[in-house]
Amino acid sequence: MGAKYIPEPFRIKMVETIKMLTREERKQKIAEAKYNMFNLRGEDVYIDLLTDSGTNAMSQEQWAGVIRGDEAYAGGSSYFKLVEAAQDIFGYKYIQPVHQGRAAEKVMFGILLGQDKYSISNTHFDTTRAHVEATGARAIDCVVEVAKDPAKRAPFKGNMDVEKLESLIKEYGDNKVGLVVMTITNNSAGGQPVSVQNVRETAAICKNHGIKLCIDAARYAENAYFVKEREEGYSDKSIKEIVKEMFGYADMFTMSAKKDTIVNMGGLIGVKDDEKLFQACKERTILFEGFITYGGLSGRDLESLAIGLYEGLDENYLKYRIGQMKYLASRLDEAGITYQSPVGGHGVFVDAKAMLPQIPFYEFPAQALAIELYIEAGIRSCDIGSYMMGNDPDTGKQIKSEFEFTRLAIPRRVYTQSHFDVMADALISIKERASEIHGYRITWEPAVLRHFQASLEPVEI
Ligand SMILES: *Cc1c(COP(=O)(O)O)cnc(C)c1O
Repeated sequence: MGAKYIPEPFRIKMVETIKMLTREERKQKIAEAKYNMFNLRGEDVYIDLLTDSGTNAMSQEQWAGVIRGDEAYAGGSSYFKLVEAAQDIFGYKYIQPVHQGRAAEKVMFGILLGQDKYSISNTHFDTTRAHVEATGARAIDCVVEVAKDPAKRAPFKGNMDVEKLESLIKEYGDNKVGLVVMTITNNSAGGQPVSVQNVRETAAICKNHGIKLCIDAARYAENAYFVKEREEGYSDKSIKEIVKEMFGYADMFTMSAKKDTIVNMGGLIGVKDDEKLFQACKERTILFEGFITYGGLSGRDLESLAIGLYEGLDENYLKYRIGQMKYLASRLDEAGITYQSPVGGHGVFVDAKAMLPQIPFYEFPAQALAIELYIEAGIRSCDIGSYMMGNDPDTGKQIKSEFEFTRLAIPRRVYTQSHFDVMADALISIKERASEIHGYRITWEPAVLRHFQASLEPVEI
């Protein structure tokens, strides 16, 4: 039995027309884009699943907040509204807005990391890894083994491997590990949740070794919904209670607010109680982002963010949101298409290695599948695999990713059930002709975060 689509807990008040291209036109557009999804124009895409980041539909309350936004340079009311909302939800004393998640990383990591240091995470997201490396430190991933088998179902495949964490800290030495980062949900492992118990255990290890624990908090609400659904002892707790408990174990958080807070731009830093650390954050915020009471954002952004923090916690909304993933996943189950399962919080991560076994990792199977999805149905997705991983900073050699996922990331409150059927139908027809699909090679790449800008071409067969 397939999963039922959970009806939207809202209705549509404003619409945005989307252009429909022919298959031939799409083939031409993707070639012109050098087979890089980021080079496509948004208007040439029918269903845009490149990311769930900043692509969300705001509510009428948030839009009303845009009008109310206080644009004072210092001490605007929207700033105080945001700080109070975040203090209430996360229980942290200090809150700093910044313009997006990587700005929070830049501010925070520069204080705690540097040459010869390590950051250990369940999995560093790509910008997180890049900001760790930009300080001169090394980023080490330490996810549970079960996460590496997409077909194997487990409730918390985003978890930190705590035994391995302990042994890595012993190997590097307490004073060399500048930071432990807990990414919730674990984006690169497929939007997989982390249990409260795992955060508690990780925090205990960090405390023993005097290392700070930072939550990479982009999808705090979706993670809490999974905890409520799956973790023993949490079914009667509210989403807000679960969020507060989880954050209570960590020392600070960096957050891309472009995800679960349902806005188009924004980020946050939270520090539980370390006044000295927060003072350093404020200084670096002024240096990189602007004065502390706006942090690189407009007053209207702060206002809609304050409202979105609460809307993201609404349980009816989260049930519908996670329900969309389950619906698409169940259609893929029926077709025998494998993905990181059970499905995660913000998208479906299709196992391109399983669908295109003829393409080796250095010819980027997940990128090849993303290109086919665009040609097939105008769907823009992206590679979360070897193409995104890039080259080893020490050897310059292509890294072989644990996963070759094509990620269909779902914007919040944007697409309807019929769009989800288009996604499923496209994947099913690609599967039928999978053996004819070839890989790609890079013809040009920049030094860091290459997947955003690189040029590719088809490998001749
Ligand atoms: C999106 C994201 C980031 C980076 O945030 P931006 O707002 O894109 O700069 C960091 N970590 C995780 C887990 C993310 O999903």
